[in-house]
Amino acid sequence: MYRQKIGLRAEYRDQEGERVKASPSLADKFQKLKSLIVKVGYYNPKGVAQNGQLKYVVNLENAKSVFRFRCPNDECIRGDFDLTKELASAVAQKRTTVSGELSCQGWQNKTTIDTIHCHNVLRYELKLAY
Ligand SMILES: [Zn+2]
Repeated sequence: MYRQKIGLRAEYRDQEGERVKASPSLADKFQKLKSLIVKVGYYNPKGVAQNGQLKYVVNLENAKSVFRFRCPNDECIRGDFDLTKELASAVAQKRTTVSGELSCQGWQNKTTIDTIHCHNVLRYELKLAY
């Protein structure tokens, strides 16, 4: 049972990891982008903050353009947060600040697959310079 849960999670993370690795770097994909600062905060489905906030300057040469953040729920199956589209449209529109929130579309844990979504929330702010 335990092993199977880890198996499902590991399998999904592996697939997504491959997708991230195969994508071009941010510097290659968005050549006009000069800097990117990301601020994210994690919240549970009720909006209560979890694990504090994270703010960092993205290394455009190393970071990949499939731009994902892990869900803080250790049991989450096929979840995580994907800011790929948000980032691409911000750059396309040459926006300098973008913020919003995403809700994790994974399952809360292995026993709730197809019944209860994880729905953890990621609030994000991207600061971009060109
Ligand atoms: Zn999740």
